[in-house]
Amino acid sequence: MDGNNQILPIAFGIGKTESRESWTWFLSRLKECFGDMPYLAIISDRANSIEMDIQAMFPNAYHRFYCHHLLMNMRTKIRKQQRMEILFWEAAKAYREFDFKESLSRLRRALNDDCQRIGNERWSRSCFPMVRYNIMTSKSVESVNALSRDSRKLLITMLIDFFRATMLQWGCQRHNVGAESKKDVIEYAEKGIDRRINKSSGFRVYQIHQRRYEVSDQMKNGIVNLESRHCTCEKWQLSGIPCTHAMTVFKELRYQHYNAWVSSYFTMETYHSTYAGLVFPVPVPTKYEEQNEFMVVFPLLMDE
Ligand SMILES: [Zn+2]
Repeated sequence: MDGNNQILPIAFGIGKTESRESWTWFLSRLKECFGDMPYLAIISDRANSIEMDIQAMFPNAYHRFYCHHLLMNMRTKIRKQQRMEILFWEAAKAYREFDFKESLSRLRRALNDDCQRIGNERWSRSCFPMVRYNIMTSKSVESVNALSRDSRKLLITMLIDFFRATMLQWGCQRHNVGAESKKDVIEYAEKGIDRRINKSSGFRVYQIHQRRYEVSDQMKNGIVNLESRHCTCEKWQLSGIPCTHAMTVFKELRYQHYNAWVSSYFTMETYHSTYAGLVFPVPVPTKYEEQNEFMVVFPLLMDE
């Protein structure tokens, strides 16, 4: 996803089946795209074939799961599903570890075996050792699947051209938005800021010391540190957008420019540079330049 919460394809590959061979091939090519990247997080489903290859190709990456797979597993085991699903998402999406533990304790009977086996840090936002932003489900994968539902029946070259053309279109539209916009942050961050401003009405602020403030929200409160851009509710640092407590402090101090407090990932400058590289059309075969020596490319070995 880019800073505007839109799908940003890095690479696509086509395998015969979702097998170890396909994943080995795809992940080794993916590694060629960006090499060994620090702080890399890979979020996938729980297929064993992916797990082993990620460990081999990206040993320093943090590999985590879509919560949805754990939920599906839970559904087969429990009664009172609706209530349990609410609790599950509360636990998965909690920002603070003690909120997570509180929800988990109520879910424990239903989830205990899975949680023990998988590890809390592999599915919950609060226990994840890095910033996971809002990537909790496999909706982006499902969107791409839905988008290519008909195209997948085409010849493979046409399918690849469909993806290339889609990337061209997305890239151009977003490049234009970045080039023409006069705003300093993207729409996703603006909406987040508006939502948190509205939610913070009625909160009270008490200055603790210099740039630190306690904000009372009548529930669990938050201690805001403007120096380190941090709040004890964890939302500011984990989402990149100031939390309701920070918004309350800004309002109290009569700060006008809320946009200056969002993570650089949400600035229009970052968004523009994300789409600086353009995707160009591929010429028709009759336009290909003729080479003196042709390289012979053999088809891939197929198992059947
Ligand atoms: Zn907060």
